[in-house]
Amino acid sequence: MDRDGTINEEVNYLSRPEDVRLIPGAARAIARLNAAGLAVVVISNQSGLARGYFDEADLAVVQARLNKLLGAEGARVDAYYFCPHHPDGVVEHYTLVCDCRKPAPGLIRQAAEEMGLALGGSFMIGDRLLDVACGRALGLAGIMVRTGHDDGPPRIALEEPDHVADDLAEAVEWILARLAEEDR
Ligand SMILES: [Mg+2]
Ligand SMILES: [Zn+2]
Repeated sequence: MDRDGTINEEVNYLSRPEDVRLIPGAARAIARLNAAGLAVVVISNQSGLARGYFDEADLAVVQARLNKLLGAEGARVDAYYFCPHHPDGVVEHYTLVCDCRKPAPGLIRQAAEEMGLALGGSFMIGDRLLDVACGRALGLAGIMVRTGHDDGPPRIALEEPDHVADDLAEAVEWILARLAEEDR
């Protein structure tokens, strides 16, 4: 799943721990995925690194804050994958066209390989069409949540969500219902 606008409130280039605010119900939703035995992996574009808006230390502090808020509600993200790149950055080693900036699916592929996860039967959840497209490029079901950006209607087939949910809680509800259906 995506991070900003999906788990925590969308803040432009989130870089301060005091700006980390959980979207209501998000922690509980992640805890439900944990309990169901599903791996929870965050796939996040953080071009603020390439743009020089913040550095790795800032990102680590934000992550620690997010993990603390999630942990307080019994929720756990199994792994975070970030793309630090942008073609128009100012930080030289992050300024490039990469294959991991969503909608490119590089980070999902990497996570699946490193964690031994199956792409088929997995889901990608995010507040933007690029999140949906990123997942669908590798055959994941794409779920859009309405708690962050509003990109308007899909422009290409890969952006067409399999499901649109009000928030992460409803998205997880849909996933668990679907898996229960398949088990029957
Ligand atoms: Mg987002
Ligand atoms: Zn990248």
